[in-house]
Amino acid sequence: MTYVPGNAAEGYCATCDEDTLHTVLEIEGLQIRRARCSKCSTEGPFRVSRAKARAGLMAYVGKRATIPPPPRRQRKKAEDPAQIYRRMMEGKKISEARTYKISMALSEGDILRHPRFGVGIVSALTGPQKAVVVFEDGPKNLVFGR
Ligand SMILES: [Zn+2]
Repeated sequence: MTYVPGNAAEGYCATCDEDTLHTVLEIEGLQIRRARCSKCSTEGPFRVSRAKARAGLMAYVGKRATIPPPPRRQRKKAEDPAQIYRRMMEGKKISEARTYKISMALSEGDILRHPRFGVGIVSALTGPQKAVVVFEDGPKNLVFGR
């Protein structure tokens, strides 16, 4: 994925001590240099999210060693809704979020700002006037175009 300043990217914030959505401020080559945390507004050097660092480490370990297969009955852990949200918001412009109004038109991929749920992204249209919008707390069904 290529980034441009203003785009959202998942990164680790030392102030929040967690993975948060960041607004890209500076790019060097294909790397993000500086970013602003969307949660606490701290600006600083961009750090790869813990989730990605972990995934990268697993890929590395996978090449060098054999990991025993998980027990058969172990169920896949449900993914954290905030993580799904951050992944969907990757590369999107938060500044382009439109304020949610019931009368607005929506299409897939639109970014909106909801007074209660915050910034969300339309993941699917489920009817002529219904959309699933993914927020940090999880997906919500919103009506629009009324
Ligand atoms: Zn932060």
